[in-house]
Amino acid sequence: MARVDHAVSSGTFSLDGETFEVDNNIWVIGDDTECVVIDAPHSVSDILAVVGDRKVRAILCTHAHDDHVRVAPALREEVVAPIMLHPDDKVLWELTHTDYLWDVDLHDGFEISVGGTTLRAIHTPGHAPGAVCFHAPDLGCVFTGDTLFQGGPGATGRSFSDANLITKSIRERLFVLPDDTVVHTGHGDDTSIGAERAALGG
Ligand SMILES: [Zn+2]
Repeated sequence: MARVDHAVSSGTFSLDGETFEVDNNIWVIGDDTECVVIDAPHSVSDILAVVGDRKVRAILCTHAHDDHVRVAPALREEVVAPIMLHPDDKVLWELTHTDYLWDVDLHDGFEISVGGTTLRAIHTPGHAPGAVCFHAPDLGCVFTGDTLFQGGPGATGRSFSDANLITKSIRERLFVLPDDTVVHTGHGDDTSIGAERAALGG
């Protein structure tokens, strides 16, 4: 039976010439033998502590801000698994990694199975052009990266973000999920689709 494991990793986020201290969530989905990792923030060892001795099938990136993909190539070296990213985030990826590319292009509707469950990618541009959420219907949860947090939409004040687009993505692509869907975010605490829909009014 698939389960969700979690850790928090601390480091920095830099964009537009500014740097901030941030705590990022690491999400690992799978069973006792295999798993996928959602986002590769600041420390390979923080991620491997959650993975344990399981086979990693994929490194899934919610978007390519440096605090979500910084150690993706180093993690790939350790676990020998493909990095998957929506190609619309190429511009952000290249701000962090000039020596490495990702391996597999994600697209809306992309599915990956692990540990007897399936994750489906939902393209939710706005916070980043290639922002993707991963819905796990069997587990009743969605991994939203920086698109939807407890308390509302992700930030859109910096380069390559779009405030109108993130609202459209959230309303049209996330708020159609069941109310009791647990939202596992890129930073901070969980919430639910119903709670955020009520808060945003719609
Ligand atoms: Zn971000």
